Amino acid sequence: MDYVFPAPPLPSLPVFASAARFPVRRIFCVGRNYADHGLEMGGDPEKEPPFFFTKPADAIVPSGQTIPYPPATQDLHYEGELVVAIGLGGANIAPDQALAHVWGYAAGNDLTRRDVQAQAKADRRPWDMAKGFDLSAVVGLIHPQSTLADGTLSLTVDGITRQSTLLSKMIWDVAGIIAHLSRLVTLAPGDLIFTGTPAGVGALQRGQTCTVTIDGLSPASVTIA
Ligand code: MN
Repeated sequence: MDYVFPAPPLPSLPVFASAARFPVRRIFCVGRNYADHGLEMGGDPEKEPPFFFTKPADAIVPSGQTIPYPPATQDLHYEGELVVAIGLGGANIAPDQALAHVWGYAAGNDLTRRDVQAQAKADRRPWDMAKGFDLSAVVGLIHPQSTLADGTLSLTVDGITRQSTLLSKMIWDVAGIIAHLSRLVTLAPGDLIFTGTPAGVGALQRGQTCTVTIDGLSPASVTIA
């Protein structure tokens, strides 16, 4: 292939206990997938089907990195989330077949410009610049497994717990999310899905370290320079 300039590198993530990397194709994210967070954001999530937004694939940040405080915000927020890594693509996937499309799981942090998001909501405009900015998708090591036992997701800022939930409190479970999303787009190997955050979202300040832990997975940690 002859390109007019060198093609950009393929975004990828490290894999637990492997030297091979997971190639990232797209990043989908679920909004309001825990009732307590939906309520804190002013909605009634129990009545709504899941909705989705996206981040660019090259927004990924591997765990352990230090990143600059993002531009164009005064209110950077953390959102601790379970991330699903797709290994087998498909459209119109049935819920009872959905977990066969999962390659693995990771802990993640859906970094958010909360002030930009609030303004976008008020103006009925898209969330892209609130959610899809550079270095906005922190992801831990991907653990290759098609299922994940229920367990605790928690998030700490400088060691103090700010979010804690059981994964089973998700409104839409992993199979349900894959089934819904695959009716909207044809999923492909390399897609990541951030599955939503529980209550307790809040601001991150310069100098703070934020760590998302999920039982059975490696942590996803990021430090704001
Ligand atoms: Mn989120």
